[in-house]
Amino acid sequence: MMNAAFAELGLDWRYLGLPVPPARFAETVRALPDSGFRGANVTIPHKVAAHALADELTDAAEAIGAVNTLVFAPGGRVLADNTDAPGLVDALDRDPRGRRALVLGAGGAGRAAVWALREAGAEVAVWNRTPERAAELARELSVRHVRRPEPADILVNVTSLGMRGEDLPAVLGLDALEPEVVADGVYGREPTALCRWGAARGAQVVDGLEMLVRQGARSFERWTGHEAPVAAMRRGARAV
Ligand code: NAP
Repeated sequence: MMNAAFAELGLDWRYLGLPVPPARFAETVRALPDSGFRGANVTIPHKVAAHALADELTDAAEAIGAVNTLVFAPGGRVLADNTDAPGLVDALDRDPRGRRALVLGAGGAGRAAVWALREAGAEVAVWNRTPERAAELARELSVRHVRRPEPADILVNVTSLGMRGEDLPAVLGLDALEPEVVADGVYGREPTALCRWGAARGAQVVDGLEMLVRQGARSFERWTGHEAPVAAMRRGARAV
């Protein structure tokens, strides 16, 4: 996806996978700017460690407590952002202001989704398998938590349910819900059960690859200063 974007804009940049053990995370990141890196994406399990080592945090990264994008400034300063949050709102392709949003999941991606939707003006409720985590997140970010999934205009799944083919709507008993938008963070080769369920109800469906592309587009813009070629990124992501 990123290399497709660099090629589209004729930039002589490369996006590389760099597996790093947690014990080596900080020293590896500190060494990257002098090795020619302009930035990095950070994924599981390093998102909280990246928050801790940053020299500067955006409001989103600070509020969410997790980072997925690093930008290396002159002198090796590490600027940290969370583009999962605005990327989700971009992917919805409609203004969530005043809409009821139900976020399933209170892990790292759940925190980002709740924060992003609340910032965008939605009325957010959060549900989680372990209810105490939903309650804690709701208290921290001043939204509601619910014991059972309840009707909403925008339904966002940021649990890992569905990654192994689980039928999320059946497992969570979503049949009474009629959302206008269904967004599923889980992605794979085939549409997830939640995406199929949303499509069968006539909802606008946003799949996990689109969410991935839109957070990636935000990261790309932070690193390069260029508008991201979203269509090329989408083609690149879907070709894998
Ligand atoms: P995480 O911090 O480990 O959180 C996992 C979440 O899934 C928790 O809320 C957990 O609930 C819930 N969960 C796990 N198994 C479950 C089950 N069997 N039934 C119900 N809930 C279950 O992980 P994360 O970083 O937030 O990521 C969560 C998901 O979002 C992953 O599938 C990830 O791939 C996806 N994601 C997608 C994008 C994208 O761009 N498409 C970006 C970020 C994340 P408990 O608290 O009860 O354990």
